[in-house]
Parts: sequence; C-alpha cells; structure tokens
Amino acid sequence: MFSDKDISHFANLETPFYYYDLALLQSTLSNCADAAKLYNFHVHYAMKANFNSRVLEKIRAIGFGADCVSGGEVSKAIELGFDKAQVVFAGVGKSDKEINDALDQDIFCFNVESIQELEVINELAAAKGKKARVAIRINPNVDAHTHHNITTGLDENKFGINSWDLPLCAETLKKSDQLEFIGIHFHIGSQITNLDVYKNLCVRVNEFAEWFEERGFTVKVLNVGGGLGIDYHHPDGQIPDFPAYFKIFNEFLNVRPNQEVHFELGRALVGQSASLVSKVLYVKNGKKKNFIVLDAGMTELMRPALYQAYHKIENISKPAVADVVKYDVVGPICESTDCFGKEVELPETFRNDLIALRSAGAYGEVMASHYNLRNEIRGVYSED
Ligand SMILES: *Cc1c(COP(=O)(O)O)cnc(C)c1O
Repeated sequence: MFSDKDISHFANLETPFYYYDLALLQSTLSNCADAAKLYNFHVHYAMKANFNSRVLEKIRAIGFGADCVSGGEVSKAIELGFDKAQVVFAGVGKSDKEINDALDQDIFCFNVESIQELEVINELAAAKGKKARVAIRINPNVDAHTHHNITTGLDENKFGINSWDLPLCAETLKKSDQLEFIGIHFHIGSQITNLDVYKNLCVRVNEFAEWFEERGFTVKVLNVGGGLGIDYHHPDGQIPDFPAYFKIFNEFLNVRPNQEVHFELGRALVGQSASLVSKVLYVKNGKKKNFIVLDAGMTELMRPALYQAYHKIENISKPAVADVVKYDVVGPICESTDCFGKEVELPETFRNDLIALRSAGAYGEVMASHYNLRNEIRGVYSED
C-alpha cells in the first residue's frame, strides 16, 4: 500500500527501482524473532533471497544468523558483522577455494550435500590442521507441494544425500578425523503454503535423527531449512504466520535436551517488504490484446520468466476503479518470456503511469542481470 506522499516522491525518481518498506521489514523480523524465541529456536536468514546491505543490516541487528550458499555470501555476511558462529554454508557445488576460505573464517558449519564433498572438506581441513564442523544435508523425499522448479527434497532432485547413501556417509564420517559431525539438515523447497508439509518433514527428521543416534552419533543440531511461503495475492502489510509455523515443529519434532533446532528462512522474512516500481513506456492496443510496455523487465525481476511466478500488478498512479481494462504487462527485453502478467485487470492505463510489482523482496533484486546491457537496478528506502 502506497501513500500519496510515496507516490508523489516516486514521480520525481528515475525508474525502475526497488522500493523497500523498511518498517514492514522490521515488524516482520520482530514477529519472527518473538515467535522463535518462544521455543528457543534458532533462525538463520537465507541470504540468497535478498543480500541488499540495508536489508541485511536489519537482519543482523535482530540477531539472526546467515545461511549462505556461496563463498561470496559467506564473505559478505562476515563483512557486515554477522557472528561467524552463526554462519552456515550449504550448496551442492562448493569449490575448493570456497571451502578453504570458509575454513579460514571458522564458520559454524558446512551443510554437506554429498559423500565426495565430505572427503574433500576432510582433506582441505587436514591441510590446514583444522577441524570442520559438518551437518549432513539429507534428501528426505518429502513432497513440498509447491512449483516443481522450486522443489528440492525429492529423490530426483540434485540436493542433499539420499537415504540409501547414509550408511556410506556414516562410515565416511567415522573415518574422517578432521570432521566434527554436529547434526542433520533438510530443505525441501520454497514457497510452501500448506503447513501439513512440515508435519511430514518432522516425521522424517525424527527418523533420521534416530538413525544417526543408533549408530553412535550425537545429533546436536536439527536444521529443518526454510521454505515458508508468502501470500502473493494479498501483499498489503502482510506478515507470514510465524507462530503457526514454529508451533508445528514444536509439536511434531522430537527434540532431545541440549539439542538445537535451526531454521533457514528466506522468502518469508523479506518477500513482502519490497515492490518493483516501474513506469509505463507505451500502451499498445492490438486487435485481440492490449499491451502495457514497462521500463522494467525480466532483467530486474526474473521470477515470472523463470518459473511463471505471480506478482500482483498495480497501477499506483490511478485510483482503483470498477471499470477495468485487460492488459498483458510486458518488459522491454528481447525475449517473449519477458512478461509479468497476462490479461491483468487494471484501470485504463497511460504512458508515464507508475506500475508496482508487489511482493518482490525475495528473489527479486538479487536475480537482476545485465542482459541486453541493462543498467544496474537501484534500491529506494522508506523511512524507518
Ligand atoms: C534457498 C534456501 C533456503 C531458503 O528458502 P526460502 O524458501 O527462501 O525460505 C533455506 N535453506 C537452503 C539450504 C536454501 O538453499
């Protein structure tokens, strides 16, 4: 929801840009932190959702850790003052350099996704005379019931170690002197809106924890990943239901005394706090279709082109009216998939109207590219 003041401010700015509602971000973070505290759950923010420094600063300040998926993210988290003891590093393809740098930084833990990776971390740690803390990312074969392009926890996905490889994994852990096993890790997908999925995950986590314990391992950390979805259809002031989410884990996970439960939330923390604001360049009225051509495209917000994602589209220069026109809303990029929405109902729209693509705080700015030699996208920030 934009105030008249916001909109007249936007009119003086060069478009397109990401507009961050830092007050909404702050209340989302506080809401999550309070809900997690109730059960003493630990939250690591999944940095890949948005690594804008202004956003990260608020997340660091509230005390969350950082869940990183590249050496670049590990460095940036530490640079911005995240506690090293709260930095975890996941990813199916960590390079030797990334592993070495993370060992030098003494991060909390590597979330390891293959047996070969365990062997490589063991070797690299030995060369430095260090111990590496590792958690095993297990592929639990739990269906996240989300878009197939953002499902990660099924047998056919590339992520994690499959259950049939766990005996070899346990053997490798036992003979690797430089590895300190700290627990098990899961992340089954993103934009999960059916909370029952998490009950199924808890059942599997309990089974795997027991499996490791039976083989003499101490499972100190249960890391259940992230994936909590947001409501893209109702972006105004919406905060995900963190209390309901954490309550499920409290009810269905068997947590031993001294065991820690870790979460890695990305989208749910930042998704609603930004909109992509763009200007209408042209309105093309065809015989069968009306097109709105924006000055933002897939180079600024790739999710619709990448996985047919929905973002609510609003003409913020015109009051909402009953009399709507249907438009295909497209960007300027030379690709037919550069389309934000088809048959979108908007008030009659004209050149220079401002259009907001809502709920763009997660996997938006971070996926921007220079394709077509486009300019770097900027961020504009609300007052706190
Ligand atoms: C992407 C990712 C997350 C966060 O996913 P969201 O859907 O944004 O909550 C958490 N853990 C890992 C390992 C990831 O790759």
